[in-house]
Amino acid sequence: MKKYFLYIASIFAIGSIASCGDSTTSTTTETAAPSLVKAPAFSADSAYANVQTQVYFGPRVPGSASQKKCAAWMEQQLRKYCDSVYVQNVTVTQPVTSKTYPCINVIGEINPQAATRVLLLCHWDSRGWADEDANPKFHNTPIDAADDAGSGVGVLIEVARAIKSQKLDIGVDILFADVEDYGKSEWEQASYPSTYCLGTRYWAQNPHKYGYHANFGMCLDMVGAKGATFKLEQQSKMLAGDFQKKVWTTASQLGHSSYFQFADGGSITDDHMEINQYARIPCIDIINTQPNGGFAPHWHTMNDKMDIIDKGTLQAVGETVLAVLYNY
Ligand SMILES: [Zn+2]
Repeated sequence: MKKYFLYIASIFAIGSIASCGDSTTSTTTETAAPSLVKAPAFSADSAYANVQTQVYFGPRVPGSASQKKCAAWMEQQLRKYCDSVYVQNVTVTQPVTSKTYPCINVIGEINPQAATRVLLLCHWDSRGWADEDANPKFHNTPIDAADDAGSGVGVLIEVARAIKSQKLDIGVDILFADVEDYGKSEWEQASYPSTYCLGTRYWAQNPHKYGYHANFGMCLDMVGAKGATFKLEQQSKMLAGDFQKKVWTTASQLGHSSYFQFADGGSITDDHMEINQYARIPCIDIINTQPNGGFAPHWHTMNDKMDIIDKGTLQAVGETVLAVLYNY
């Protein structure tokens, strides 16, 4: 239980822990939402293939050949669908251990002239140790990270492809952030910034364009597993509650309310917090949590591989993201 209450993710729980364990469901009253403008079709097959490609590269561990190959592939994909692509090749330092990591952030820009913008982001690195695996012999083995990284990238590349097929009035920026999953619970100290989310923190402090701003941000993390449920993460609710409600309402209008549940989730420090804190962009987190408030059983284990990826989940997430953008 402790891991769920204190360290909710690749990620550190900082808020009320009661809501993580309670099965309390918020009773949000919904008023009838206007009907949706049709967004371009999202192909779960393509998103699935995108996840598979990343897994084929091997664990995308900082400093590995797989990291470089996958970064080059993501850049190539974004170049097909975005107006401009930026790559940040930098070194980030873990604030507690002072260990440094090569970090590659890849950013795709759509409709650069548009003043109204939405930032879509996810991390793409694989955790270098399966420290939640039931078998201790894997505790220093890198994971495939099909869900905990691969799924977000898989969905967002397909979102970019779909946007290219139908005119969108607003601007969209896609950030694939590296070195998210290199924290450990024992390194989390109140006097330091989180040991997770180092690539996003770098970008939030040094965006690809000077003075960059977006109206809202959406972070996708673990959005591909069968039976995933996305609840109302508490930091998102506090910092971008109206936008969060819009996203969940849109999902419900599309018939995806079994995935996007209007129930209070835990308080999770994920990449969205770096965006809120350093880039000052109100940003929400879409992340799979279980009814007990913890993460899915494959989280940070050797089981985070293709078997657990489900096209239905990818479809629900991708369609929702597109509908939010086309109905902004
Ligand atoms: Zn993780």
